[in-house]
Parts: sequence; structure tokens; C-alpha cells
Amino acid sequence: MTVQLNETHDVALRSWVASANLADSDFPLQNLPFAAFRRKGSAEEFRIGVAIGTQVLDLRAAFAADAFAGIAALNTPAATRALQSDSLNLLMGLGQETWSALRLALSRQLREGAAQQAGLQAALLAQGDAEFSLPARIGDYTDFYTSVYHATAIGKLFRPDNPLLPNYKWVPIGYHGRASSIGVSGQQFRRPLGQTKPPTSDNPVFGPSKRLDYELEIGIFVGKGNELGDAVALDDAESHVFGLCLLNDWSARDIQAWEYQPLGPFLAKNFASTISPWIVTLEALAPYRLAWQREQADPQPMAYLDSASLRDGGAFDVQLEVLLQTAAMREQGIPAQSLSQSNFRHSYWSVSQLVAHHTVNGCNLQPGDLLGSGTQSGPTAPEAGSLLELTAGGKEAISFPNGEKRIFIEDGDTVTMRGWAHKPGCARIGFGEVSGTVLPARAI
Ligand code: CA
Repeated sequence: MTVQLNETHDVALRSWVASANLADSDFPLQNLPFAAFRRKGSAEEFRIGVAIGTQVLDLRAAFAADAFAGIAALNTPAATRALQSDSLNLLMGLGQETWSALRLALSRQLREGAAQQAGLQAALLAQGDAEFSLPARIGDYTDFYTSVYHATAIGKLFRPDNPLLPNYKWVPIGYHGRASSIGVSGQQFRRPLGQTKPPTSDNPVFGPSKRLDYELEIGIFVGKGNELGDAVALDDAESHVFGLCLLNDWSARDIQAWEYQPLGPFLAKNFASTISPWIVTLEALAPYRLAWQREQADPQPMAYLDSASLRDGGAFDVQLEVLLQTAAMREQGIPAQSLSQSNFRHSYWSVSQLVAHHTVNGCNLQPGDLLGSGTQSGPTAPEAGSLLELTAGGKEAISFPNGEKRIFIEDGDTVTMRGWAHKPGCARIGFGEVSGTVLPARAI
């Protein structure tokens, strides 16, 4: 499962795109994440691209400039269609060898001294001049629940006597979500209306959610699918994953509390979910793999969810942060304020275990399917990935330097999430950001 490091990870590589060589860039030459974009405000067809510094390289234009000439894996009819497509689904379906060949070709051609520099210059667009669509058409969306710290904290609020249900440490818990309301960073949506039951009243009431929250998650984009009836083995699972993005799974806690039993989340979760435009490949993340561990006192995973290579390097060291900017802060020119930081390394289940478990019954995954990791709360209270946890169930307000306070999200608030990976001896790589803004509820 562990991808070996190769020449594309060399920390010494520099790009002829100067902004990619800045120490704090999310998108150095060692990253090369994928998105779908077009010129901002245009009616052009979307096309797929790769981030390099402050620019995006248009893969359709790069193909037209013969950037991939002579590379067999990138000149099959399927590959040439994929490179000129308006979304990443076709490329996702081609599999790891093609993704790797493309990464190597792009790495070589974007390096200082590359012969193709003159030809590729015209295929660059400043990211500030681009608008993004969802990177892929998402057929199905599944949301997991992989932070044991989040599950325990939420469980305590919803079921004080019985916070962590007995299946949690055996089964990667998940539910089937809704793909149609997933939007790309910049998404604006109305506060959801719904049924809630105030603790002081015998009957539920109808109206705008009063306890709107975010959830800090990693999104996992499926690459190559599996046939209905087949299972993906754990050690093959990562070859079915195209890459990771940032995901904000907006959640209406008051609607959730009233509706979630007996069948789980429904209208509390399906009004909006927002993802970052960029998908960082697992190959780019190879330097940031960590041993996957399970406490000795906990049940060890069943055989289909365990392997030597999982234990070796099945976890990812990705730092995560949530920030909030209120409408007043925006007007006063005050930047977004950090609410918490966490790390994907704390996930109780690995990316590979989610894919293996999802398919163990024969369920087929398809290119462009999205899996949410679940809220990535860390082991200590300040590392929580939702307001419900940070405000102790809505009891302790968070105060900001301009005097504002928040318990839950208010109209006009913008929530932004960032992710990055960094350690000595390796290039820092980032996920960019996912940002979304809540508008007032529809009039009733
Ligand atoms: Ca979630």
C-alpha cells in the first residue's frame, strides 16, 4: 500500500513558475493537486487543471501544446479524452498508473530548465482569475464518523449515559449522504428550515435552525471503481482513491437531535456540504504517511480491515484548521479568526479501511464518488472540529477580539477550513481552502 517516494517528491525541486518556490506556498512542484476551472465570469467550458504556485495549469491547453507527447500512458484514446474533459471523472477512472505518469510528466515539465516552458506558459491562468466547479461529478456521497474523540464528545451530549455505542470500535460507522447539495468553495446557502423540538415544549416546532454548525472533515475522492458484487481488499484500497480534499459537512444540530433516531442523519445534513476545489493525490501525500495504530486495550480490526502495510503507513499527517469571519468582521476589515486546529492523523479508521469496509458487502464505488471522513476532532477539547464540541453543547460562547460572540453559526458568517502537511526535509504541501457562507433562511 505504501507508495515509495520518487523523483517528484525531491525537496530540492524548483519550478519555473516562481510563486511555486515560496516557502509558504500551498502548491509547490511537489504537490500538483487537481481541480476543474474556467476563466472567471466567462461562459467557457470547464476544464481540468493542476495548481502550481499562484497559477493553474490548463491540462487541455497543455495537451494541445504537446506537453505529453511520447508518454504512452497519456496518449491512449481514454487518456486523451480524460485530459480534455470538463471534470476529473474520466481521469479518476483510469487508475493509479496513469495518475502517476501524469504527475511525473507535469513535475518534469514544470521544473526549472524544462524544455516545454515556453509552450506551457500560455497554458497558465492566475488562480485569482479562475472560477472553480466541483472537481468531479459526484455520483454518490457517503459520510463516515472516524474520529473517536468526536464520536465520544457528541455521544455524551446526545446520550450522556452511553456516549460511545459498542459497534464504534468494530465497524467504520457511516451513512449514505446526498450528492446534489455538495458545492465547491465559495458556496452560499440559506439557513435550513425544519422541525426541531425545544426541550421546554412537548411538541416540535417548525422554523429556521437555531443551532447551525460546521464539521471539519477530509473528503476522499474515489478513483477507479469496483464492480457490483466485488470487494476491494484492504491492501488494494488506496489504488481506488484518487486523492483527498477539505470538506465542511454543515449540520443543523437542532434538526439532527429531533430526527436522527432511528435511521440516522437526514435533513440535518443534506442542505449543503462544501468542498475545496483542489484534490491532493495520495502520491503527493506519500512523504506524510504515518504508522496506523490501534490502542492495545481496544478491539483490534477484523482481518479484512487489517494488514502489515496498513500498520506501516496507512495514516496521513495532515494539519487542519477552522476559521470564522462574521459579517461585521468583514465590514471592519478584520480577518477570519481561528477556532481550532486538528490533524487527520487522529482518525480512528484509515482511508483504506473506509474503502475496504464500504465494498466488503459488494457495494460498487464509482469514479468521482465522495467519502467524508467524519469530523476530525483531536484528543483535546481545543482540537474539536465542530462548534457543538467547542461550545460544550451550546453552553459556552466563543468570544472574538471585536466583542462578538458565537455559540452556533449566524447569518452572514463565513467558515473557512485549511489543510496542509509539513515536516523537516520535505516540501510543505497544502490543500488550499474551503469556504462557505450562510444566508438568512427562506421566508415562511
Ligand atoms: Ca459529518
